Amino acid sequence: MTRFIDHHLADASRPAASGRTGEVFDPNSGLVQAHVALGDKAVLDAAVQAAKRAQPAWAATNPQRRARVMFRFKALVESHMDELAHLLASEHGKVIADAKGDIQRGLDVVEFACGAPHALKGEYTQGAGPGIDVYSMRQPLGVGAGITPFNFPAMIPLWMTAVALACGNAFILKPSERDPSVPVRLAELFLEAGLPPGVLQVVHGDKVMVDAILDHPDIAGVSFVGSSDIAHYVYQRGVAAGKRVQAMGGAKNHGIVLPDADLDQVVADLTGAAFGSAGERCMALPVVTPVGQKTADALREKLVTAIRALRVGVSTDPDAHYGPVVTAAHKAKIEDWIQTGIDEGAELVIDGRGLKLQGHENGFFVGPTLFDHVTPTMRAYQEEIFGPVLQMVRVDSFEEALALPSAHQYGNGVAIFTRNGRAAREFAARVNVGMVGINVPIPVPVAYHTFGGWKRSAFGDTNQHGMEGVKFWTKVKTVTARWPEGLVEEANTFVMPTLA
Ligand code: NAD
Repeated sequence: MTRFIDHHLADASRPAASGRTGEVFDPNSGLVQAHVALGDKAVLDAAVQAAKRAQPAWAATNPQRRARVMFRFKALVESHMDELAHLLASEHGKVIADAKGDIQRGLDVVEFACGAPHALKGEYTQGAGPGIDVYSMRQPLGVGAGITPFNFPAMIPLWMTAVALACGNAFILKPSERDPSVPVRLAELFLEAGLPPGVLQVVHGDKVMVDAILDHPDIAGVSFVGSSDIAHYVYQRGVAAGKRVQAMGGAKNHGIVLPDADLDQVVADLTGAAFGSAGERCMALPVVTPVGQKTADALREKLVTAIRALRVGVSTDPDAHYGPVVTAAHKAKIEDWIQTGIDEGAELVIDGRGLKLQGHENGFFVGPTLFDHVTPTMRAYQEEIFGPVLQMVRVDSFEEALALPSAHQYGNGVAIFTRNGRAAREFAARVNVGMVGINVPIPVPVAYHTFGGWKRSAFGDTNQHGMEGVKFWTKVKTVTARWPEGLVEEANTFVMPTLA
């Protein structure tokens, strides 16, 4: 008997299970370790009804008290860090230290949400006219929902949950069905921290559940993170149903290496950013673009040495640089992309296919892979591979290097490595990408700034967390109040009021 991962609902009187379940693998062994409930409209509706009952009292709880729940939750997650990291690694496959980073980056957003009283302060103008004051307030949307990908099962649910809750919303989370256990544990810890029942619930499922969320008339806002085609679909269907929607999609981030860069530092940064978490990060650097053939040759030589020294291992191996990919299907997809790269004429310098780890022969491991002489017309360059595959695209000038990520269909992140501040500054200003690193390989902004890409990496116009997150999860109400001393002149009441 495998473990069963159920929805985390507020009401005991839940609808009967649909009977559909999904398999959750241990990517290290390749074995099914649990089954997860795959819910439907009825399960979602039960969650929405409970959320609607709980939300008004939560919204009426003053923001400082809501923030105190966040403080307690943060402490609880910290005290459960080891347990959560092991659970996360066992379903996702990332190594324990990386799993802790996943959780910590989520906690950073919880810390930001602890500042909700400050973030939610409105604006006020005294004396906008005679006896007239104007003020605005941020009010919660009501019931919000989040749909999250497999690759950050703690950080991304917390991006949404922490901000939505701190703003006074009730929240329904639909995590990836491939690694659903950590989101459930986080919801349990929120309850322990004092969050009232019904304010946060977790429903599991696939497209059936996502469609139910998008169509439900009582869900006011939906935040999605996942692959681009699905992000676009979620955005369109959600907006058509009258919801506020932000939908983050896929990525293909470039690392630009100028001839003056410190190549040893670049290699250390690149190997971490390209192969860390088996390349399953939307801010990974799967493309490296050295400027000039001399830079490219020198970089390639150092990269080959560094990549050959990488250790792929099980998640619990403290010496492993990265672990298995999430499923057998994803492993097969990555290996197909490697074949496509070869067929399209790129030079395969290091081939990571067919890696078998002793004692874990059925695990979903893919060795680090390096391609050189990749060109922009190749499909393997244009599409996201989302695995431990680094592609070198050689260019001859700064302008060419700037044009590549700018023209790519994705615009999530980009990094430039150089000692030339002026070149870096110009690159950052001109590149057509949403998040830029200057000698920073994974430029995921800190929690009090905001996260979001451009082009097919994000649909909708509001980013995750920071004040953009607060804006997404609230609506502004503006009050114009008049307390005149005497009678107001009657003549004024029939024309559009002005202050002239
Ligand atoms: P995915 O698109 O397969 O799944 C994301 C969510 O959508 C899951 O909850 C899943 O259940 C649901 N879903 C899957 N198929 C669906 C369908 N046909 N209709 C409706 N919903 C569906 O993504 P994934 O494989 O879990 O995650 C990896 C992807 O996420 C990569 O493309 C990666 O770049 C992207 N990602 C983007 C960001 C970002 O902020 N831009 C961050 C992390 C991951």
